[in-house]
Amino acid sequence: MSEIIDGKAVASEIRADLRDAIETLTDAGTRPGLATVLMGDDPASETYVSMKQRDCEEVGIEGIHVDVDGDAPAEELYDTIDDLNDDPEVHGYIVQAPVPDHVDYQEVIRRVDPGKDVDGFHPENVGRLVAGDARFRPCTPHGVQKLLEAYDVETEGADVTIVGRSNIVGKPLANLLIQKADDGNATVTVCHSRTENLAEKTRTADVVVAAVGVPELIDGDMIGEGAVVIDVGVNRVAADTETGYELVGDVAFESAKEKASAITPVPGGVGPMTRAMLLYNTVVAASEQTGVDVELP
Ligand code: NDP
Repeated sequence: MSEIIDGKAVASEIRADLRDAIETLTDAGTRPGLATVLMGDDPASETYVSMKQRDCEEVGIEGIHVDVDGDAPAEELYDTIDDLNDDPEVHGYIVQAPVPDHVDYQEVIRRVDPGKDVDGFHPENVGRLVAGDARFRPCTPHGVQKLLEAYDVETEGADVTIVGRSNIVGKPLANLLIQKADDGNATVTVCHSRTENLAEKTRTADVVVAAVGVPELIDGDMIGEGAVVIDVGVNRVAADTETGYELVGDVAFESAKEKASAITPVPGGVGPMTRAMLLYNTVVAASEQTGVDVELP
């Protein structure tokens, strides 16, 4: 039987610790500010943004939201970004993805002030992360690291297989886990859609991270006895529920939990951690911009 990794509980502890840091900043005269920008009306994005705003309110961060019409020219989004770069009350902000097709997402990423780039996607921040001098760790990979730490999963010397090589999850996580650091020092294999014999790569791993976007791709047969399984995937599949869908991960939870020593559920695993680490990065940004030192969880 495997231990269920409780992302909600770990995220809640991180938020509680962040509250102290936010209080320190606020007492010193700066309440940290996080802005969310949403272009268009994608329902999943609307949900994500409103959850992020709720998180801000809970911990004492000033939450600011900017809506941009989905049919507006791309320049309207770029102007919004320029305004946020210049706004001293906004210490960090995110542009919720996906953006409409007529917007160049790479331009969006490049345009964000790297000091306010709490997603950690700007090339300067990606470079710093790879060089072992991260300013903002991207939220999902950082959340995965914090979950491993909370459950005393040693990464040093561990064989970690990551399925997925996106710029927001797979690649940054691989880079973080190979760093010469206490929460790194792993030997990492990164798999993707062209990987051959995927099951061989996952079955031999001490830690398997699935970040694919394919419902239940990784089943129990692909997991080695006693491995730790981290499921990043969030997939909406049709179901006989009030909403007409349910959320499932990239891992077939029931069969994988028979093999794993510990496993994250979906929902309630990585998702809450991603949100908590966005607040964390906002505190880092506010601390860096004000020069007020804070203790981070
Ligand atoms: P992307 O679509 O950007 O990347 C998916 C990756 O999976 C790609 O590298 C792709 O390979 C690989 N892949 C696709 N099919 C297969 C396959 N059959 N076998 C092996 N590899 C495959 O996704 P994201 O990284 O953005 O997201 C992944 C999942 O995580 C999604 O379900 C997303 O919703 C979820 N997510 C959850 C978050 C959270 O907070 N819980 C945050 C971010 C994402 P290739 O590169 O060759 O195309």
